[in-house]
Amino acid sequence: MPRPIFATINLGALRHNLAVARRRASSSKTFAVVKANAYGHGLARAARALAEAEGFALLDLDEAIGLRAAGYRQRILLLEGFFSPSELPLFAEHGISAVVHAREQLRMLRQLPKDAALDVFLKLNTGMNRLGFTAAEFPDALRALQSNPGVAKIALMTHLSDADGASGVDWQTAVFDRLANGLDLARSLANSAAIFRFPETHADWVRPGIMLYGCSPFSEQSGSEVGLVPAMTLESQIIAVQHLRRGDTVGYSRLFMADRDMRIGVVTCGYADGYPRHAPTGTPIMVEGRMTRTVGRVSMDMLCAELSDIPEALVGSRVVLWGEGVPVERVAEAAGTVGYELLCGLAARVPIRERD
Ligand SMILES: *Cc1c(COP(=O)(O)O)cnc(C)c1O
Repeated sequence: MPRPIFATINLGALRHNLAVARRRASSSKTFAVVKANAYGHGLARAARALAEAEGFALLDLDEAIGLRAAGYRQRILLLEGFFSPSELPLFAEHGISAVVHAREQLRMLRQLPKDAALDVFLKLNTGMNRLGFTAAEFPDALRALQSNPGVAKIALMTHLSDADGASGVDWQTAVFDRLANGLDLARSLANSAAIFRFPETHADWVRPGIMLYGCSPFSEQSGSEVGLVPAMTLESQIIAVQHLRRGDTVGYSRLFMADRDMRIGVVTCGYADGYPRHAPTGTPIMVEGRMTRTVGRVSMDMLCAELSDIPEALVGSRVVLWGEGVPVERVAEAAGTVGYELLCGLAARVPIRERD
């Protein structure tokens, strides 16, 4: 028998969450964001479940070509564009759209074959200050694209830095609208948080990522509270039970000390499986369908869960680390991170099962 840890990917949940995004932004087209191996869910698998989307957005040209080879005909957008002029013929050949965010890329585009018909999303830096042209640089960048005979459709995009937070989006959309107004070009602004919270950002194309995987973009709500279904459930089993006496400690660095006699279960799941090592004692975990807490330090291949109130738990009991029943958002919060990082950090050694 293999080690009893695995992740289940619920394809029906992916379809459901895409439908939620499309209903929320019903007059926009959707780029399903499938970067980072579809946030850890598997690119090929996720693309199959998300095939209703009018487009896919990701980072890797080889992966984009793989989607074309698998028969997907919708728009494919590479969110960082191209990194070298040598990639341009492949963008053209496979009909892959590129984000153009830097002057260096405009220079590379001079080597674009005249008959290339490359579709581009010109990225504006409206305050994120990561990628994109500033308001001052924008007119020249747009002119360079418009005068390039190898460039076909031009759309405008920006990325919102606090759509899930207190400062919202107005300060960025004001800049974007000022530049985009009067231009007859398609627009794209919204990530998952903006799809939920700011309908005025939906525009022509929305770009949902995290919500497709059933994880909330908001720290104060879990996915199920905003109508999403978790697509990934990471589960394992108890492989040993320990009876602690008051004063006994658990695991490396003796981080947890029992303040009374208690029973704990050793779960075969550790940071080499993608479980966060920084998850402290008290991180939520489910055993035999009951919520309990982790105790002690997470090690490479194992972690421990308190079983004091779950007398029916034994070696072989089912444990859910995150997913159905245990929001990944809550595990992430306990570990000082976000669901995004846990989902896309699922280790390659964890076997995947699919269900519909
Ligand atoms: C990752 C990404 C998204 C998706 O963001 P979520 O918060 O996961 O919805 C959208 N747009 C760009 C440019 C991205 O890099």
